[in-house]
Amino acid sequence: MKIAVTGATGHLGSGIIQTLKQQVDNKIIVGIARKPEKASHWGVEIRKGDYNNKRDFDAALRGIDVVLLIPGMGGAEERIQQHRNVINAAVKNRVRKFIFAGFFGKEGNTTVDPLLKSYRRTEKDIMKSGLEWIIGRDGLYIEPDVEYIEKYREAGEIVNCAGSGKASYTTRSELAYAYTQIILSDDQNGKILNLGGEPITQKQLASYMNKAFNANLSYREVSPQEFLEFQIKTNGEHLGKIVAGIYTKIRNGEYVMDSDFKAAAGREHISWEKYFEQLAS
Ligand code: NAP
Repeated sequence: MKIAVTGATGHLGSGIIQTLKQQVDNKIIVGIARKPEKASHWGVEIRKGDYNNKRDFDAALRGIDVVLLIPGMGGAEERIQQHRNVINAAVKNRVRKFIFAGFFGKEGNTTVDPLLKSYRRTEKDIMKSGLEWIIGRDGLYIEPDVEYIEKYREAGEIVNCAGSGKASYTTRSELAYAYTQIILSDDQNGKILNLGGEPITQKQLASYMNKAFNANLSYREVSPQEFLEFQIKTNGEHLGKIVAGIYTKIRNGEYVMDSDFKAAAGREHISWEKYFEQLAS
């Protein structure tokens, strides 16, 4: 039995590898990275794999039983082909089970929808590949907000266009736990799993951050157009449209899920009270 995890140099990929290491022998874990030297310290076998290079993955998935694909950060169309390179290599190598760490979001008409549609395309590609599959649809990572605390503190406020909409946030460590169970058990095979915690508003987020970091943040709503312009100016067209689109989806009620976290992980998602309490201590 060999388990391969792509994106081994990234936050989620490395988190899954660390969590897997607590449950199985290191020898059966294979991390895949486009720059293997960046992941050489994980204490597991690391193979080279650039999503743009079919041949890399044909070789990287040799002898692999279960593979978990974590998307990269490319454009919507680019990702479809990148993911196909991995799916096709899995088919060629007769991988037994294919897991995709995708992205949650109800269909809409925001600037992140092209990316979301490309994920749904990948899901279809996986389903028709003939491989045994499990598709995860991840909620919104909460860590970028937490890591932004000093910037928020300087501004004294959290500003975006989510308004009073709720979002199903999650954490990378909760996802790492859930994906580890998904890898090791076949109970969820053939299912699409929404992976997130209790949905919260931006006002609630500000309040949790205030408690955890002894801050005094308020929440201020701006229009989707104003937020899009700000994001493009700050983060460039590609990332700016993704970020503004996500908050517009939250505003539109398109980011609240019925979570399958408990079924996938075998336990409840951490509550936000507990998560922020742990951060504070
Ligand atoms: P991350 O730390 O940036 O990791 C991304 C990983 O993808 C890195 O290991 C990166 O390798 C790898 N990668 C990028 N392009 C690649 C390519 N062409 N070939 C092979 N590997 C490639 O991101 P993360 O926080 O772990 O998140 C994982 C993914 O979730 C992201 O890539 C993104 O698609 C998505 N995401 C989701 C949310 C959310 O809120 N749900 C938020 C942010 C991102 P290098 O180290 O070589 O760059």
